[in-house]
Amino acid sequence: MPELQGRVGNRHDRDRAGAAADRLCMLASTMSTERFPLPSEGIKGGRDSDTATATCFCGSVQILFPLKKPGYVDSFICNCADCRKITASMFASNFIVKDSATQHVRGRDKLTKFAQSKTIASGNTMENHFCSVCGTLMYRISSGFPGMLITRIGTVDDFDLHETALKPSVEVFTENRVCWLKGAEGVKQEKGMGSLAG
Ligand SMILES: [Zn+2]
Ligand SMILES: [Zn+2]
Repeated sequence: MPELQGRVGNRHDRDRAGAAADRLCMLASTMSTERFPLPSEGIKGGRDSDTATATCFCGSVQILFPLKKPGYVDSFICNCADCRKITASMFASNFIVKDSATQHVRGRDKLTKFAQSKTIASGNTMENHFCSVCGTLMYRISSGFPGMLITRIGTVDDFDLHETALKPSVEVFTENRVCWLKGAEGVKQEKGMGSLAG
């Protein structure tokens, strides 16, 4: 900020500028964006807000979703075979929001779709919406739950929310969990789709 540097002349001004910089720094240190240095421009909400943003790995696609019911529905961990394969990991950490309560902030045209029903335990067709630039799976839409977006906790820009508002309430398909992982602490454990089945 050259204009600020130009104005900082005497010691009093420097102290004031220093205090302002400290406040900015404190603010920045509480922003979880610092934990992830790739661009997520236009981050909104989180913590004390009723909404928050989720962004793909490259920053092209961003959605704004509700953190409170009724727009926000639930959060869960899934160990099913389909979730392992689609996450290229051992489980998926998801949350469900209503499509009608979610906004596409940018990059909706960058989303590409892939749908199939062969590996879904319920037999539903699952439509996957990926960022066509970086491959991040932003959300899935199940034919069994129309109007719902099954979004990914890891894409949410405010990492504090991963531990608070978006903490899963239930872990499902526990019978499919790899033997070297334990269930999530303080999270209800259920076989099959459990209470998520309806
Ligand atoms: Zn992307
Ligand atoms: Zn699953």
